[in-house]
Amino acid sequence: MKITFLDIYRKSKYKISKNTNAGMGTANNYGTNLLAKAQNILIKNSIHYPPQNCLYSMAVLRKQGNEVIYSDKLINNNSDIYIFTTSIVNHETEIESISELRKLTESLFIVIGPFAECATEKYLQADNSNNTKIIIGEPEGFFFINSKNINLNFLNNLPNKVIFKDMVDLDSLPFPAWDLVFESSKTNSIKSNMRFLGNSNSVTIEAQRGCPYSCSYYCCYPNIQGKKIRFRSALNVVNEMIHHKKTLNAKNFTFRDPVFSISKRHVEAILNEIIKSKEKFNICIETQLKDIDDEMLLLMKNAGVKLIYIGVESSEKEVLDSAKRKNLENKTIFEKVNYIEKMGIMIKCNYILCLPGDNYTTAKKTINFAKKINSSFAQFTIFTPMPKTPAWLEYFPKLNFDRFEEFTMWDLVINHDRITKEQSIKLKNKAAYYYTSLRYIFTRLPRVLQNIIFN
Ligand code: SF4
Repeated sequence: MKITFLDIYRKSKYKISKNTNAGMGTANNYGTNLLAKAQNILIKNSIHYPPQNCLYSMAVLRKQGNEVIYSDKLINNNSDIYIFTTSIVNHETEIESISELRKLTESLFIVIGPFAECATEKYLQADNSNNTKIIIGEPEGFFFINSKNINLNFLNNLPNKVIFKDMVDLDSLPFPAWDLVFESSKTNSIKSNMRFLGNSNSVTIEAQRGCPYSCSYYCCYPNIQGKKIRFRSALNVVNEMIHHKKTLNAKNFTFRDPVFSISKRHVEAILNEIIKSKEKFNICIETQLKDIDDEMLLLMKNAGVKLIYIGVESSEKEVLDSAKRKNLENKTIFEKVNYIEKMGIMIKCNYILCLPGDNYTTAKKTINFAKKINSSFAQFTIFTPMPKTPAWLEYFPKLNFDRFEEFTMWDLVINHDRITKEQSIKLKNKAAYYYTSLRYIFTRLPRVLQNIIFN
């Protein structure tokens, strides 16, 4: 069969991703002042990855002998099946794409991605010939488990809503089909990249899925990937890294694990395996600061970890409590971040403004605390109750939006008790000044530039 994956994005002046937020997506609209707009352009051109479920599903279907094509443009190329990736952040554009392509072909459509589960009827109604199937659950697992049955007859006879709740062993899946994305980038508009790790080719990778932490109140990962963690073996992870380096010259790896260092034993096994391979990689991970100790830091440095994302969220204890978020003391965060930066590993601190317990003053305090920490990167999102989280149910009566595409994580979509929409934009614009302080320019900027230019 000829199968085309359609990974469609709406037009925008800022970065839009379906890879983030456990596949629900994000859109980095940093604000309305000049500094924010400059950051919008910089990040749009510096980081882009297709969704993980798409990369894995393409690999599984290709391994079954199908011809598989990836496109970020809506194309009709006489495929037997078109598979649409979905997200909340591109929802209306995806619906329009399904309707538009249906005018040109009678082929089977399949819709994948976690947001499809939340808006099933909308995706089905977009196809007026009723020839669309939605996979609810992990699509790569569905295609893998049903390997022997995947043909047009089997797929055509499926119900419109295919419920697949199994969580497959990640080691059993083939390596994500990054080569199809690289091949398509010759004709597609969006290139896969991660400039902050250097100029080499960049890919994402997963060493585990799932997260057990209590911030599942507002975070998509535990609610989509589960609270139980599924680990890949260290050898399988590093073999994948070596494979992409050899075949695609990809040296930059962004781990998409919700909390990379959640298991000390597992993370040390991976880092030791990387060191043993003697390969040079530039690595970005996301984790919790509390999990990192000196021994792990040294291993990270030796394995090529250049950038660590951590969640700080807010400087205010009562605001953190309002979001069921547990953090280290502010003093410890400050000391630990600066210690790691001194070791030569860049940190990106993630903050959330307009959390349930926030007011304009506490949100400003968080921005000031970020400046005090002075990490290499700081990202300020706006609290967004995402579907599938407990916060969504709690805030449902207060939601205030016209299109799901407004659920960017950078726009206030609720009637907040203490912060207006205008104030939320003012806060984003204020946060955009983060990179202009002399302290930042002299202490952090040189190494950020060095990484971009010389790695
Ligand atoms: S630790 Fe990170 S991934 Fe896990 S629930 Fe909290 S914010 Fe989400």
